[in-house]
Amino acid sequence: MTEVPNNSSTEKSLNFIEQIVEDDIAAGLHAGRVHTRFPPEPNGYLHIGHAKSICLNFGLADKYGGKTNLRFDDTNPVTEDTEYVDSIKNDLHWLGFGWENEFYASDYFEQLYQFAETLIEKGVAYVDDSTAEEIAVQKGNPAEPGTPSPHRDRPVAENLDQFRKMRAGEFPDGAKVLRAKVDMTSPNMQLRDPVIYRIKHAHHHRTGNDWCIYPMYDFAHGQSDSIEHITHSLCTLEFIPHRPLYDWFIEKLNIFPSHQYEFSRLNLTYTVMSKRKLKTLVEDGHVTGWDDPRMPTIAGLRRRGYTPASIREFCDRIGVAKRDNLIDVGLLEFCVREELNRTTHRIMAVLTDGRPDAQPLKLVITNYEEGREEIMRIENNPEDHEAGERDVPFGREVFIEHDDFIENPPKKFFRLFPGGMVRLKGAYIIKCDEVVKDDAGTITELRCTYIPESRSGSDTSGLTVKGTIHWVSAAHAVEAEVRLYDRLFQVENPAADERGFKDLLNPNSLQTVRAFVEPALIQATRSGSLTNVQFMRKGYFVIDPASTPDRPIFNRTVTLKDAWAKEQKKG
Ligand code: ATP
Ligand code: MG
Repeated sequence: MTEVPNNSSTEKSLNFIEQIVEDDIAAGLHAGRVHTRFPPEPNGYLHIGHAKSICLNFGLADKYGGKTNLRFDDTNPVTEDTEYVDSIKNDLHWLGFGWENEFYASDYFEQLYQFAETLIEKGVAYVDDSTAEEIAVQKGNPAEPGTPSPHRDRPVAENLDQFRKMRAGEFPDGAKVLRAKVDMTSPNMQLRDPVIYRIKHAHHHRTGNDWCIYPMYDFAHGQSDSIEHITHSLCTLEFIPHRPLYDWFIEKLNIFPSHQYEFSRLNLTYTVMSKRKLKTLVEDGHVTGWDDPRMPTIAGLRRRGYTPASIREFCDRIGVAKRDNLIDVGLLEFCVREELNRTTHRIMAVLTDGRPDAQPLKLVITNYEEGREEIMRIENNPEDHEAGERDVPFGREVFIEHDDFIENPPKKFFRLFPGGMVRLKGAYIIKCDEVVKDDAGTITELRCTYIPESRSGSDTSGLTVKGTIHWVSAAHAVEAEVRLYDRLFQVENPAADERGFKDLLNPNSLQTVRAFVEPALIQATRSGSLTNVQFMRKGYFVIDPASTPDRPIFNRTVTLKDAWAKEQKKG
């Protein structure tokens, strides 16, 4: 089941994490201090799921007068890169959040190493020469107790000596590991003597070649929270079984008692939300990059025309729950549509909607003098009168949308047809007199006449017409490339499908079409005064950074109405 938009505007009750925080403050825990952190691993770009975690962590600190650290969880040297660090900081700023401290788990390598020695000295960690396969066999399965490693009872002095030699680089990768001595009989597999250090002779993006042993995620994460005195460490549900281990380390090391709380991951329909999968899409060329407008990444959404406020609004509406759920991407689209409806200028653009047989039609107004030109004043945004008006040139030849004309119209077709009348938005009423075709039968132009008394704003014609269509003056139109996007995947939940996610891609997720747009739009986008716009009757669009002065490119953010949901209901 997917979840649907929650439009209730009644005052919201506390979510379960806010409730915990308020209880902690009331109980005087940590003297009422609230300190959260956002801990991305810099192994990919942030996605909309991360935005949920960001809004939650920064939102809590904001609400309760606390602080939030940005901590790069960079304990795995092979997958991490400074490109990702930079993109993460950029995306956070763009989303509107500033952090208290910028920390790196790798800054704690020495401290974490000392923690490991402390555990060894306390007799609760040991160096194991078993291979990865042997360790897996020892751990066994949750139904039966595991079997101890032959090295489990190594004397403390020998463990210390071996661990120091691991650090000194005396062994090759995989030769030995350090394991916590917890409980080989626990039904929780995380507690069956987890590996906490491994040998990896690899260059790290920050510590270079200083280290050849690296702490495992479970050993680094909780202790990093503790080092930073994080009061409420929020993570996703899959870490519930790790919490006892997190607490075990804190207890054994007798360090600041951070506490972990878990909330549900965000999953969104028609996309995948794991950095590993998104990286595959990039590397295999299924998308043009991490910022491809079809990607659920923050960079992709930004390029698609999403605004920071619409993403924050979405995160607010989905809330936080204690069970996993799949959110309808329609809710995300709803949030951006709501905002853009309030803020964007309405521009006229004539596009082809992707069908090669649906090119714009040229309309020739035979009773309008050749060479004559008028400037029409059209309101920028009927939802916001302060947005003013702009000049739109009009002339004898205009382009109209292919679908706004039908030669043999069905009943109740209120747009143009032979002998019929429509209003050209903000200009005149026109009548279609003649359809001109080439030898192949393709319409080359529509010959029309206009009613001079019908000019918008000073109409004395006394005529009423049912249809109003948009247009662009042929003499002034600027040609643009327009990219129309559809869902990246064909199925609602690709991650849960037994077919591989790469086989479920929607082959029609991008259509590139030609469009004629108003010249004012090009001036405005060039000067940077407009980024997001509405193309009347066509949707919300944004200028793409790959545009050049003579070849503007627009990405469709979202259609005006949820045509897709309507389709679903019909079908
Ligand atoms: P991925 O599987 O995409 O790599 P991750 O959890 O490994 O995700 P991290 O960089 O470790 O990614 O995540 C940083 C923070 O963002 C973590 O606290 C994590 O729980 C949270 N997070 C990641 N994905 C989601 C999601 N889909 N919904 C909510 N929070 C998420
Ligand atoms: Mg991760």
